Amino acid sequence: MKTAAKKRARATTAASGSKRRALEDRLAAAKRLRAVEDAKFRARQAQGKFRRFVSANFRKQEVIEALALRRGECNRCGACCEILFKCPFLKKQDDGLTTTCGIYEDRPNQCRLFPIEKRDLEEVRGQCSFYFIEKPIRLEKAS
Ligand code: SF4
Ligand code: SF4
Repeated sequence: MKTAAKKRARATTAASGSKRRALEDRLAAAKRLRAVEDAKFRARQAQGKFRRFVSANFRKQEVIEALALRRGECNRCGACCEILFKCPFLKKQDDGLTTTCGIYEDRPNQCRLFPIEKRDLEEVRGQCSFYFIEKPIRLEKAS
């Protein structure tokens, strides 16, 4: 009788051990996946920073055309100032929601122009209040 009870106890321990290992494996896999996604996101941000620097400083006509599709206004969330790293000039306001730029008058062109294209919005995880339309709207002549 005692032997049967011991066997059951051993089987229960083995089952819970394998469940725990399976759970640990799943957690480790989820962690690896998150790390890969995070690395991809940061790579996209780095690419975006470089692309905007080039566009804002050397491709003015393209920027003008891209901005013709932009709508909305800045909510001063500061998310674009934390792409890849937090800019040292970024200042949080007392309301805890809005931010200001410590070098606002002299900020770089790529800061002034963010977001230039729809894909830029992906780098701030949807926090930006600007949006883009698909095509420029033609204004009809008033009759
Ligand atoms: S310079 Fe100003 S606008 Fe540009 S990232 Fe820094 S805080 Fe933001
Ligand atoms: S992410 Fe968009 S809304 Fe937020 S501060 Fe930058 S431009 Fe303004």
